[in-house]
Amino acid sequence: MKLHFLGTTGYHPNRRRDTSCLMIPELGILLDAGTGIFRARELIATPELHIFLSHIHLDHCVGLTYLLDVLRDKPVKATYVYCAPEQELILKESLFHPKIFPVLPPIKFKTLRHGNLAIPGSGKMRTFPLPHPGGCTGFRLEWPGHSMAYVTDTTASANAPYLKHLKDVDLLVHECYFPDGFEERAQITGHTSLTAVAQLAAAAQVKRLYLTHINPMDEGKKPFDLKSVAKIFANITVPEDDDTAEF
Ligand SMILES: [Zn+2]
Ligand SMILES: [Zn+2]
Repeated sequence: MKLHFLGTTGYHPNRRRDTSCLMIPELGILLDAGTGIFRARELIATPELHIFLSHIHLDHCVGLTYLLDVLRDKPVKATYVYCAPEQELILKESLFHPKIFPVLPPIKFKTLRHGNLAIPGSGKMRTFPLPHPGGCTGFRLEWPGHSMAYVTDTTASANAPYLKHLKDVDLLVHECYFPDGFEERAQITGHTSLTAVAQLAAAAQVKRLYLTHINPMDEGKKPFDLKSVAKIFANITVPEDDDTAEF
């Protein structure tokens, strides 16, 4: 199974990264709809798309307005957007207010609740709450022989309340907005710094850790000193947009 990183920063895009969006093209699954979603167009391979929103902060939902172009002349029969009913209402009243974006793309909203649901490829998804201002949802996706989790916009620690949902996962994609030294700022803003996420990955005994939602003010090639946490958790990758991970 191949995961594509379409957007790996948070808040706003920079010269190296767009905002949050992941895609598993062979199953038509997208996680978040940040500015990186424009890259989905050339990867579409299924008649249905399923877009799961972690929350509706702008860096995770603004790309829903790009779907007119993403879907244009593509053989996609249905595009579903999964979020809570009150989030659907807010999106329709704000992002899709006629004065902001006058045309609703061809999407159908579906209710996302915390718990388990079936996903394409005979898989199952478990969703769980994350500590973040305004709330956020984490995802664990499983198929026979493959598993991954996507956890963004949250604080992290070795005893994070959502740790049990990440146990033994093949691939953990976790936010890491800050390098070490910004622990207090991470706590206040509801985000994560490097050592905390390495400790979490070790405690959850995940196999590999990919860092995303990286501070857009850092446009460098190496936003983190991974050697400094190698003793805690060694198998860490910092993907860039258009990178992929097999799992
Ligand atoms: Zn964000
Ligand atoms: Zn957020």
